[in-house]
Amino acid sequence: MINQLKSLLEQNTNFLITTHKSPDGDAIGSSVAWYEFLKAIGKKPFLLLPDEPTASLLPFLANLDYRIFDLETEQALATINQHEVLFCLDYNGSGRVGKNMEVIFGLFEGPKVMIDHHPNPDHFCELMISRPEVCSTAQLVYACIDELGLMEHLNVACGIGIYLGILTDTGSFRFPSVDKQTHLTLAHLIEIGVEHYKIHEAIYDVNTMDRLRLRGYAIAEKLEIISGLPIGFISLTKEELERFNYQKGDTEGLVNTILSIEGISIAAFFKEDKDNIKISFRSKGDYFVNEFLNRHFEGGGHKYAAGGVSYESLDVTLSKFKSLVEELIP
Ligand code: 5GP
Ligand code: MN
Repeated sequence: MINQLKSLLEQNTNFLITTHKSPDGDAIGSSVAWYEFLKAIGKKPFLLLPDEPTASLLPFLANLDYRIFDLETEQALATINQHEVLFCLDYNGSGRVGKNMEVIFGLFEGPKVMIDHHPNPDHFCELMISRPEVCSTAQLVYACIDELGLMEHLNVACGIGIYLGILTDTGSFRFPSVDKQTHLTLAHLIEIGVEHYKIHEAIYDVNTMDRLRLRGYAIAEKLEIISGLPIGFISLTKEELERFNYQKGDTEGLVNTILSIEGISIAAFFKEDKDNIKISFRSKGDYFVNEFLNRHFEGGGHKYAAGGVSYESLDVTLSKFKSLVEELIP
């Protein structure tokens, strides 16, 4: 596997990196890391994102050559085949880039390489580096660089991406997916000069008053526990979001707050968007959420962190959730 990756890197120059829609810290972190690594070994990388990340992730893209597919569709389509290899980072199915950008898989003529840690990947790439046991795609990027024998090209810019992805996909190094290798990776990154505390501040100390008030409201007024079950949930309507001047990213992590209640092992968050309901689940212990979302809400993800979507009204979606909720209990 790594040998095939090595040949692709040796035989080509122009690499297109892609990641999933609504890119999170690991999507951006692993993409930045892979981009900076490719640059460090003398290649020409280009990053194509389906849509814009949240504001707190934008600074991490400052030095990258990238384009947002939804904002510059024509230009993006015109340049797809100027690249020889397509990398798919932090997603396990072509649909995860969204309906608009998914067309690139029909158009791209070269080989596609998946570097990802989500379980049950679709086989849409010729080369699949898929390792669900790794805590984050960012740590998998680090492992690839190591296995390629090219660690001397790991620079601070690449390290920042790796740190960002690990930090955000492990709930700040606390999920069961964290292992010894995670901490060894972090130690190595600090050793080469990554200023870890600046990354924490850039991600977690950028709240606005509106965001904190929205969270306060959600917890005080909208948090419900399902009687007799270790399940809590919050839902927010468009109107409620607008009342707090909602900006993309304002509700990120809110679902984890529900999971911090003693005795709660499953947390759900329902957010009314323009034309659908975005659903976000987290769990711990013996409770797994990805299959439930896959079965009922066109979603999926990891055992302990998964998402989905509903095209019904918020009320209908919540009724459906409540009627099916027992399925989450093993
Ligand atoms: P989040 O709740 O942060 O949006 O997503 C948590 C995880 O669930 C993501 O890392 C991703 O793996 C997965 N996920 C979120 N939304 C979807 C979706 O609509 N479809 C699928 N297949 N997975 C999703
Ligand atoms: Mn990830």
